Amino acid sequence: NIMFIKGLMILFLSCITIRLNFCISSIPSSLKSLPLEGHFSFDEFDLKKAARDFGNRYQSFPMTVLHPKSVSDISVTIKHVWNLGPNSQLTVAARGHGHSLQGQAQAHGGVVINMESLNKVDEMKVYAGGEFAYVDVSGGELWIKILHETLKYGLAPRSWTDYLHLTVGGTLSNAGVSGQAFRHGPQISNVLKMEIVTGTGEVVNCSKEENVELFYSVLGGLGQFGIITKARILLEPAPTMVKWIRVLYADFTAFTRDQEKLIFAEKGFDYIEGFVIKNRTGLLNNWRSSFNPQDPVQASKFKSDGRTLYCLELAKYFNHQETFAVNQDVEKHLSHLNYIPSTLFQTEITYVDFLDRVHISEVKLRSKGLWDVPHPWLNLLIPKSKIHNFAEVVFGHIVKETSNGPVLIYPVHKSKWDNRTSVAIPNEDIFYLVAFLASAVPSSNGCNGLEYILSQNKRILEYCERAHLGVKQYLPHYTTQEEWETHYGPKWQILLQRKSIYDPLAILAPGQGIFQKSI
Ligand code: FAD
Repeated sequence: NIMFIKGLMILFLSCITIRLNFCISSIPSSLKSLPLEGHFSFDEFDLKKAARDFGNRYQSFPMTVLHPKSVSDISVTIKHVWNLGPNSQLTVAARGHGHSLQGQAQAHGGVVINMESLNKVDEMKVYAGGEFAYVDVSGGELWIKILHETLKYGLAPRSWTDYLHLTVGGTLSNAGVSGQAFRHGPQISNVLKMEIVTGTGEVVNCSKEENVELFYSVLGGLGQFGIITKARILLEPAPTMVKWIRVLYADFTAFTRDQEKLIFAEKGFDYIEGFVIKNRTGLLNNWRSSFNPQDPVQASKFKSDGRTLYCLELAKYFNHQETFAVNQDVEKHLSHLNYIPSTLFQTEITYVDFLDRVHISEVKLRSKGLWDVPHPWLNLLIPKSKIHNFAEVVFGHIVKETSNGPVLIYPVHKSKWDNRTSVAIPNEDIFYLVAFLASAVPSSNGCNGLEYILSQNKRILEYCERAHLGVKQYLPHYTTQEEWETHYGPKWQILLQRKSIYDPLAILAPGQGIFQKSI
């Protein structure tokens, strides 16, 4: 009898296995039979590309890559996955330009949607006539292309990232922060309208007036609530030139006092950032920048000599006919600052070259094979009241040098961030973005090695937690549900509710590791 029961169990289990295998193996053919204008690719090259990202540390192979030719392709695919129900493990990740750091745009065994296939420049439409100028773009559009297209109308987006070879959907899923954010807020504060494909495959338009909850859910939503297929981005008149300035401080208090003064200044600078220099020679030795001051010899001779220095980086936009007035304005603002007097470095470059400055360095690094290395980046948002404690411990003791990549630091106003979006930010009127943007040199065991940088990041995070600084990670990465709950704090319940409405089976953006299919 026991043998008989055992036999029945084995038969039962193998039936389940055969059925499961059948289900899994029938998925590709069921996908292939969907009525699409674009296509699914099972090509090894495509799968490999979708399995990696800029961070170059996490690798998850999808089952297939969708190259959509229309929004309907995305909707049909997600509807199909939705109809497979909770027992199917299939997930879907939108992939913008794949510049995530820890596999956020990957989908293990799932469908990766190559959003850049949706782009067609002739679909970008600029509207200059009404109350606001804006541009309608595809969610897979690169910001650099938007810049070039809008400049044809003398216009440009108001808020940027430091690097423009990123997609609209990718940066709006995070926030999109750069030196203009103190004035205009992050990119998610500069969107008028979006078209979204939700986790049930529905195509929905949303704005501050229409489907309001979806609009705010998706902005800063880490891809959890829908795929951004179109966005309407606010524009402003574009300048032609930029006055680009760097000044140095040895005193952190004087540095942050000036940064904070400048973000309140009327008719002040158009861009305000800053970075930390430790055990490095020269102001030019910075991969992230093509800064080429009028007195390069002096700038390159500048030695930090073991000291920690703080570089305030400013930019003022202008057109040629305004040169005189702009110089006067800049002089006036600089005269109120307390930087080391001999350390004023200036240059003038075109607006496009200024905005696209990191790409110039990318080209140089690529030529040396130093672009596709691991990037163990750490981005933090730190309340103003705790920035001195942070600097004392982190720049004073934990970080020994900044030669493996820039460490950015600059303040922004919380009032320019809309609390209804999904992004988690510190609860203080002013907070700082501090970005440790290290590149790990392959085969290095020292300060430039991957293990060293990762353990430094860990020490920084442990300190922030121990000291209760109220820090939030930007471009967050956590491995447990508890950590995500802590990250979102009071917003966690709102997030759960949003997920249950817009992606109830947790199909979307599995690489973020927040929700498991199905919750
Ligand atoms: P991906 O990496 O492809 O995707 C990121 C996430 O968004 C994934 O979860 C993905 O599933 C989701 N996603 C992608 N497209 C869509 C869509 N259409 N709809 C919904 N979800 C989508 N960030 C800043 O804020 N400021 C900076 O100055 C800045 N500088 C950077 C410089 C460099 C060199 C790099 C590599 C990154 C920088 N970033 C910066 C970070 C960057 O904004 C994010 O990593 C962003 O997500 C990258 O965009 P992407 O198009 O490559 O997105």
